[in-house]
Amino acid sequence: MDQSTIKQLVKENGVEFIILQFVDVLGNFKHLELPITQLDKVLDGDIMFDGSSILGFASIENSDMYLKPDLSTFMVLPWSDGKEARVICDIYTGDQKPFEGDPRSCLKRVLAKAESLGFSGLNVGPEPEFFLFPLNEKGEPVFEPHDSIGYFDAGAQDRGQKVRQDITRTLHAMGFEVEALHHEVAVGQHEVDFKYGDALLTADRIVTFKWVVKEVARKYGFYASFMPKPVARINGSGMHVHQSLFTSQGNAFYDANDEIGLSEAARQYLAGVLAHAKAFAAVTNPTVNSYKRLVPGYEAPCYIAWSCSNRSALIRIPAARKAATRIEVRCPDPMANPYLALALMLASGLDGIEKKLPLVAEVKENIYHMSEAVRAEYGIEALPADLNEALNNLAQDDVLKSALGNHLYEAYVSLKKAEWDEYRLEVHPWELKQYN
Ligand code: GLU
Ligand code: MG
Ligand code: MG
Repeated sequence: MDQSTIKQLVKENGVEFIILQFVDVLGNFKHLELPITQLDKVLDGDIMFDGSSILGFASIENSDMYLKPDLSTFMVLPWSDGKEARVICDIYTGDQKPFEGDPRSCLKRVLAKAESLGFSGLNVGPEPEFFLFPLNEKGEPVFEPHDSIGYFDAGAQDRGQKVRQDITRTLHAMGFEVEALHHEVAVGQHEVDFKYGDALLTADRIVTFKWVVKEVARKYGFYASFMPKPVARINGSGMHVHQSLFTSQGNAFYDANDEIGLSEAARQYLAGVLAHAKAFAAVTNPTVNSYKRLVPGYEAPCYIAWSCSNRSALIRIPAARKAATRIEVRCPDPMANPYLALALMLASGLDGIEKKLPLVAEVKENIYHMSEAVRAEYGIEALPADLNEALNNLAQDDVLKSALGNHLYEAYVSLKKAEWDEYRLEVHPWELKQYN
């Protein structure tokens, strides 16, 4: 979209406000709203802000930063009667250079690397799951499931249906193509899936999706939570990420002559993802709570293995082939900063391709039911048991550290270490029950 089309849309709709959006290091969506009288300055990339007030961005001494709009992300917001528009921005430093600590720039850097290796792009299809919780009279969420139904259940009990439909309508008005909406396995859990797209567009869409889901849910008196394990002992919320590399010839993961239809590049990419999973978990599974989802028995992966159908493995290869050949990485959860999560999974896969890493054998059995001895015999390692272990693994992974770049690595790890230390100060109700 060019500047004159944007000005035209603003005029036609009578837009009054424009929201400049970006994410901080942890993936929180940040909004700076301006009256439309400032549009020229916005479009020229002249809007400045105080980077020292954004988590993980600049120091007080060096805090002036610019918001440079990515014009392709401009849209008039469907719920605003045309009065509000948004545009997602890249962050530039005071001396007009792309800011190394901007998560969006990190994903762009890794995508450029893919291009240098001959790939035209990464297609990504995310499956973010969420819970709807009731609100109390003060408007605060009550973390108890709002229904008692499960996978694909329907009918009068399904109070989430109207919410999912409204989310879908809103997303369609924003250019998404929703492919399925349904009640998920856990009580009070839902899923709305949108069509895959290129990695940067999809990361932008994930942050936009979470924003829309929360806004729409509130209209219906619900609180939408993307917390990975909000209720103990039932399924948590994942965000499986389907991914495939493309060249100008088409899907680089497909090979008609291979026994299971996977190209050499797909096998090496897969091997790279397996090799770095213990470290990128610190980003794809970014919270203390994330590791309460990665336990056996709840359809979430806990072991580092791949399979064509087995959902207990970290990576599944869905049955579709030709242009739809892809891998599904099942560990990420929807609290992850999507720019960084996609950047690190892609960097892992590219490392596998660059180093021509060999792929271990497929694991067909249910890994949840394997004994430790059998797992050891197969060489199947576990994903990290907690955030601290994941951060320690990341600290030893030079490929991923260089994909993040120094600024993002330091900023991310110091925020997450502080979160871990904060958690360690608490005494959990389970401990009192167990050890009193
Ligand atoms: N909720 C499951 C998870 O934690 C995934 C269920 C599914 O296969 O969609 O990953
Ligand atoms: Mg699901
Ligand atoms: Mg899935």
